[in-house]
Amino acid sequence: MTLTSLGVPSIRTPTPDPADAPTAGPLLDTFGRAATDLRVSLTDRCNLRCTYCMPAEGLDWLPADDLLRPDELARLITIAVTRLGITNVRFTGGEPLVSRTLEGAIAVATALRPRPETSITTNGIGLARRAAGLKAAGLDRVNVSLDTVDADRFARITRRHRLGDVLEGLAAAHAVGLTPVKVNAVLDPESGLDDAVSLLRFCLDHGYQLRIIEQMPLDAGHRWRRDQTLDADRILDALRRHFDLQPDTAERGSAPAQLWRVDGGPGVVGVIASVSHAFCGACDRTRLTADGQVRSCLFSREETDLRLLMRRGADDDAVEAAWRAAMWAKPAGHGINDPGFVQPVRPMSAIGG
Ligand code: SAM
Ligand code: SF4
Repeated sequence: MTLTSLGVPSIRTPTPDPADAPTAGPLLDTFGRAATDLRVSLTDRCNLRCTYCMPAEGLDWLPADDLLRPDELARLITIAVTRLGITNVRFTGGEPLVSRTLEGAIAVATALRPRPETSITTNGIGLARRAAGLKAAGLDRVNVSLDTVDADRFARITRRHRLGDVLEGLAAAHAVGLTPVKVNAVLDPESGLDDAVSLLRFCLDHGYQLRIIEQMPLDAGHRWRRDQTLDADRILDALRRHFDLQPDTAERGSAPAQLWRVDGGPGVVGVIASVSHAFCGACDRTRLTADGQVRSCLFSREETDLRLLMRRGADDDAVEAAWRAAMWAKPAGHGINDPGFVQPVRPMSAIGG
């Protein structure tokens, strides 16, 4: 066994009744987990078409009227931080850099007290141009998604010839101090074991931290098959043929990545075994989609419509109560490994990864 699993919690109060949700304090669920990490999707649109996420033709984008307006988004972030105990706000998408509201939303979040940590998950296209402005708006860190450093494979995986833009984006983020710069990789089933080795070399050479994420059933085409993905154990075996990996002794806490010190350090690599070694038992996330729906889990089949509530004139107490009730009903885990697992209707790009 090379990885530890944080498992799925098994003890809960009988049936989560929204009326039993706490009215103050941490954003709890019935398993005693507290959500402190908010993922905000700013848009479902994207300028890449990664095969494990979007079809080549793109998707039916959300209508503009359905998207949260900047004032609505600011209100929800404020409620999350000042009333619900959120300490980390991560902006994602779709591609957050295609949203014009990104810098404003970061500025709103970082003006709050207590000030939350802010980060973005981005494909890096346009980051070279925006990095300094994002830093000035208060952004703390970036995670840049990059699955290979081979230009042809990059084009095959993302269906766009944009590797150079991503590499420039990474360098710019590092240069302006959006650090530590993390690189998120979802490996291709064919070339992924080779890609993992060259990605790790690239990240060690440039001072970036690599995180390899198991592919999950969140593709728009619902084509995910377990036997066509690379699991964490195979990835680690491949890396060990080229690097000495020792478990990083730092406390893992609720962090999804299990970290390994590479060749004695200081470089580390993380492997996020979301499927093969689930960490749902330590999950501390709550999610807000670009159209204002709260999801308690990436794999939720239920959403709570905060946009509608706000547009009907609900006050902050009512919005807070609805968010708490949504999280109170958070399921034990994603259930990917259960025989009756059903993939959520929304793909990753419309949820916010
Ligand atoms: N467009 C941005 C990006 O790619 O970083 C942000 C949104 S993207 C949905 C967020 C993260 O989800 C990326 O790191 C991407 O690789 C990951 N992702 C997308 N589809 C996935 C899947 N089916 N399984 C695992 N991770 C996935
Ligand atoms: Fe776009 Fe990110 Fe999905 Fe790739 S993973 S298609 S960059 S949203």
